[in-house]
Amino acid sequence: MRDPEVGERLRSALAGTTQRLGEAGVPSPSVDARALIAHAAGTERHLVLLDALPEAFEARLEELTVRRESREPLQIILGRAPFRRLMLAVRPGVFIPRPETELAVDILRERSRGPLTDVIDLCAGSGALGAAVLDEIPDSRVLSVEIDPAAAALAAENLERAGAGRGRILRADLLQDVPELSAHAPVDAVLSNPPYIPAGAVPRDAEVLRHDPHRALFGGGDDGLEVPRAVIAWARRLLRPGGLLVMEHADVQGPSTRRAADECGGFDHLSTARDLTGRDRFLVARRAPGEPADGSERLSR
Ligand code: GLN
Repeated sequence: MRDPEVGERLRSALAGTTQRLGEAGVPSPSVDARALIAHAAGTERHLVLLDALPEAFEARLEELTVRRESREPLQIILGRAPFRRLMLAVRPGVFIPRPETELAVDILRERSRGPLTDVIDLCAGSGALGAAVLDEIPDSRVLSVEIDPAAAALAAENLERAGAGRGRILRADLLQDVPELSAHAPVDAVLSNPPYIPAGAVPRDAEVLRHDPHRALFGGGDDGLEVPRAVIAWARRLLRPGGLLVMEHADVQGPSTRRAADECGGFDHLSTARDLTGRDRFLVARRAPGEPADGSERLSR
């Protein structure tokens, strides 16, 4: 039997926390309040099912609420973020996986032809895309490439948990020559959520601006496409004929990323996939047959 006092403590926690988060400008105060309350209660169950609360519940909740009031991201406070069927580990200093990025895996599965066994995730961050591939595509193998050591360590954990022994990490800067990466060609698909925000743009949310590493946000160059262009060039080198690149970008970058892929060459089909709200969000590029994928090739056309 549930102690009636538990219900009272939960109700007052929910009302108080929701109000405080709302006043702090948190966009979804009641959803976040519930998540913090469950965390403070040491449960992942539905709150109405709780029949006991730890003695330190209020003190723990206070600590969590103060953090969220200061706009520390909910995922960092909880130490995890949902991504497709997975619950990924997240950590301060590493880009938090976003729900919009989840769509890249559907686009890949819908549009790819032939086997989907060897997949490379470029600019892997927490390893979200690669981990989802390992989880959802039986017998797939993933190489996740990431420049930042903290992100690479986290990605290694997330890959291992999603598909033990089938994921590998390579720490590399895609703006440089990377012979170990070239040696991985040919692969069936390249997925990427690279940094792409243009230099002059300022992320709207306090959580993003203050907590996501800027290296994971700003793509370089005035148009933000320096790293995305490198991703496209790597996809050209790495993909087998018919292999697919699916790369996330900002909603205004559909035409410019298609142009970048066209200028790079080596693709025979370019398109832009939209997100669920109809915005341009992913470059989809199919590797042309005819030229072997290799690390040294330069385009002349
Ligand atoms: N989508 C990011 C954001 O919402 C931008 C950078 C990225 O995803 N690669 O802030």
